[in-house]
Amino acid sequence: SPVIGVLALQGDVREHLAALESAGATGTTVRRPEELAAVDGLVLPGGESTTISKLAIAFGLMEPLRERVRAGMPAYGSCAGMIMLADKILDPRSGQETIGGIDMIVRRNAFGRQNESFEAAVDVAGIEGGPVEGVFIRAPWVESVGARADVLARHGEHAVAVRQGNLLATSFHPELTGDHRVHRLFAAMVRAAG
Ligand code: GLN
Repeated sequence: SPVIGVLALQGDVREHLAALESAGATGTTVRRPEELAAVDGLVLPGGESTTISKLAIAFGLMEPLRERVRAGMPAYGSCAGMIMLADKILDPRSGQETIGGIDMIVRRNAFGRQNESFEAAVDVAGIEGGPVEGVFIRAPWVESVGARADVLARHGEHAVAVRQGNLLATSFHPELTGDHRVHRLFAAMVRAAG
């Protein structure tokens, strides 16, 4: 089975590791460039994108992450991880950087105060068997996508799941539910790339 890393600087790392195992992949933590070099694919967890960005720079991981993504390594980001995969943040905090790779602009904390956390059924293109349970926690939405990115799901009028080649991103957190279909989709992407 493919070895899928979870970037373990900050965020809901354990939940992703468990979801990957349930999806039939082998999960492992990534904190150092050598660990990044050893994985077939990488999950960028939910958490706080400003913190993950700062730590990735401090740990000397930002450039190695960009290089592997450029070279075609499959990556999946949930929530803060989606932000990390965006080419552009609408309103970045000062010094906040992304890995990039998906031709999209994201808006952080987009759903607003009354909707800081909510759940909604989300139909995701390419995932069979009915909608997934979308857990949104101070979630970003995708403000716009470029020609190379495909929107897989919307909540209301806003894109909340996007794929571009080997890169997948969701505003929501499937790792916090018992439904591992998104992780299975990503594990299949990693297998297909290998
Ligand atoms: N609001 C967080 C950010 O901007 C994301 C929240 C999450 O990952 N649940 O990074």
